[in-house]
Amino acid sequence: MTAHNLGYPRIGDKRQLKFTLESYWKGEKTVEELEAVAREIRYHNYQTQMNAGIQLLPVNDFAYYDQVLNMSTLLGVIPSRFRQKSYNIEVAFRMARGRAPSDDGHVCCASHASSKSKAGYAGAMKKWFGTNYHYIVPEFEQDTVFKLTDTRLFDEVDEALHIVNDGQNVQVKPVLIGPVSYLFLAENKETTISKLSRLPELLVVYQEILARLAEKGIEWVQIDEPILSLELEPEWQEAFVQAYGVLAKAEVKLLLASYFETLGEHVSLVSCLPVDGIHIDAVWGKTQLAEIVDAIPADKVLSLGLVDGRNIWKSDLNHALQSAKTAKQKFQDNLWIAPSCSLLHVPVDLDSEEGLSNELTGYLAFAKQKLSEVTLLSQALAGHNVESQLSENAKIIEARAHSSMVNNEAVQERLAKLDSIALKRQNPYTQRVKVQKPKYNLPLFPTTTIGSFPQTAEIRQARRAFKSEQLTEAQYVKQMQAEIKDVVDRQERMNIDVFVHGEPERNDMVEYFGEQLSGYAFTQFGWVQSYGSRCVKPPIIYGDVSRESAMTVAWSRYAQSLTNKVMKGMLTGAVTMLQWSFVRDDQPREVTCNQIALALRDEVLDLEAAGIEMIQIDEAALREGLPLKQRDWDDYLRWAVNSFKLTTSGVKNTTQIHTHMCYSEFNDIIQAVADMDADVITIETSKSQMTLLDAFVNFHYPNEIGPGVYDIHSPNVPTVEEMVVLIEKAAQNIPVERLWVNPDCGLKTRAWKETEPALENMVTAAKILRERFTLNPSA
Ligand code: GLN
Ligand code: ZN
Repeated sequence: MTAHNLGYPRIGDKRQLKFTLESYWKGEKTVEELEAVAREIRYHNYQTQMNAGIQLLPVNDFAYYDQVLNMSTLLGVIPSRFRQKSYNIEVAFRMARGRAPSDDGHVCCASHASSKSKAGYAGAMKKWFGTNYHYIVPEFEQDTVFKLTDTRLFDEVDEALHIVNDGQNVQVKPVLIGPVSYLFLAENKETTISKLSRLPELLVVYQEILARLAEKGIEWVQIDEPILSLELEPEWQEAFVQAYGVLAKAEVKLLLASYFETLGEHVSLVSCLPVDGIHIDAVWGKTQLAEIVDAIPADKVLSLGLVDGRNIWKSDLNHALQSAKTAKQKFQDNLWIAPSCSLLHVPVDLDSEEGLSNELTGYLAFAKQKLSEVTLLSQALAGHNVESQLSENAKIIEARAHSSMVNNEAVQERLAKLDSIALKRQNPYTQRVKVQKPKYNLPLFPTTTIGSFPQTAEIRQARRAFKSEQLTEAQYVKQMQAEIKDVVDRQERMNIDVFVHGEPERNDMVEYFGEQLSGYAFTQFGWVQSYGSRCVKPPIIYGDVSRESAMTVAWSRYAQSLTNKVMKGMLTGAVTMLQWSFVRDDQPREVTCNQIALALRDEVLDLEAAGIEMIQIDEAALREGLPLKQRDWDDYLRWAVNSFKLTTSGVKNTTQIHTHMCYSEFNDIIQAVADMDADVITIETSKSQMTLLDAFVNFHYPNEIGPGVYDIHSPNVPTVEEMVVLIEKAAQNIPVERLWVNPDCGLKTRAWKETEPALENMVTAAKILRERFTLNPSA
């Protein structure tokens, strides 16, 4: 029995890597200082894993920025705009972050500074298989040639071997992303070469890498093929046969790792591959465990990922042991135990937390604690006497199930009666619009914003001071009200049609609500890497969710009292609340989502009663929640859409429901978006030059749409003309009486100095079109 690990968080227990990287990028630290911190983190991680009893240490799970970027630089997949004579770490950072024109020390004049040939835009970033981690998409060009380039992998293997040799009976296990997944994740750029036709050349470099690792005495290499969680076209399945037929010749043993989902229909494909071992996700893919155990030949290693690498709950060890029993009988010593996937996706160490209740702490396990679970399981399976730990674990699991902290009878009763709540609005949109239009009497092309306004240093300072009790509640409220008054005045001056209060009281759109809902907890150090040096600290949904009292009504009511214009109420939708949190694993996500939706429903009705007549419910993460396998989409979309309807269906016909979604491909979810039946949806479309709108046009989306007319990620102030062009483009395809004019997203990361002129231009652009269409309605 072997206890091993697939990967450990690399940010450091106090986010050391983040802070050092950011100082390095600012020029405040040297590359040597950066490397020293990285070495220290790796050393600490190896020690932690060895101390916990991990017998095969993952190496190359470290990355300054991203593990997919590591593969690109290792394989020499460097976009032509960043190529230079010799490779160094700066090249990798430019691939990830782009190269500012000033990088070349050549900013003699504005025309040079903005010249495209000097600046290199950053590589695209994509979400990593439904986690909240983002990788840098490899780019293939016509002249891309695979060639061993960055040698960091080998240096880190040497370093780890050195550390391990000083220590116990532990092996170094380098981790690579497999060739098929790497090709799959890459994107072609102006090239006629198909990705799959590059496989043979790519395999040559992989062989070279494996040979070098063998020379160093490496026995096992973990080769990650996460695309095995997806439904794959036959040619991609075939690519596995081809790839591993070649790589099997290497002098090292290969552990093929799949994670995040079941293997689906790939079970027989995977069991026939000539690799020495197979790792499967036995948590997120547990439904297929028996089938897989049966299919994989007994002379291979089977690694069971029994400890959830994507969530923060203590494992039910007895249950895990039970499910590993048949595997043990068949594989004996060839059975390995591991977390389900790399621990990259969970916070580092629960021991750092001081603010959580003892009870909740007892139910949790972060990366470090999960290592001990892995070794305990492996000891139990090896027949060691760990009875007392196992019965201790059983008690905790039992306590959690019956805890009064977790269970809230009132919530459960309400949920049981869900069927009695109508999910439909009183009337369909076609009738609602007939009462809404005269009521609001908005001009054509009504202007609005998405919710937040610039979060100035003073605002953030005030929130901090209130949190640390340096400001009394009365002082804090007064200051926030002043901020709200300021943004109302500005919107009056700019002549925007539908107002927002600006969200100064919100640090984060999920945290703000989570902090007021019961069933939610917040950690101090529960950081998880999102991309590069960016980390997020997802809240923990541990219990039945309920709303203690109104969460936004006082702010919205105050804001509305300052103006005759309509003030939009602003809430974060249930799916987004779920998607950006660690969610309890003891009930279906759908149930937790409905609990949040019920709490939001109460908030919506309270807002309506307080005279707030337009209410926006942001569902920025709706699309991100799509399951990895397309066959599971319908079920997810059903409950996701229903939770939105549960949130909104109680309002009067005259109350206008808005929703907002950040940049997403809408084509494959457009039916679901329409089913949500929001009166108005605002989306991010400016960067795509409105092409994202096509999904709505082709679908004949029936309700109102506000396609974003300017990119809020950039400090550029868009000109009136640019926005006129975009609105015209939208107006050619969407009936003008259903078009709104707004920025792409919230403005909290922007400064006033660019926000105000941008919004003024936006209002002017709307006016120009208004005149045009009023003079000539068929324009
Ligand atoms: N209302 C939020 C804001 O404006 C929406 C943010 C988002 O969609 N990410 O900040
Ligand atoms: Zn957005």
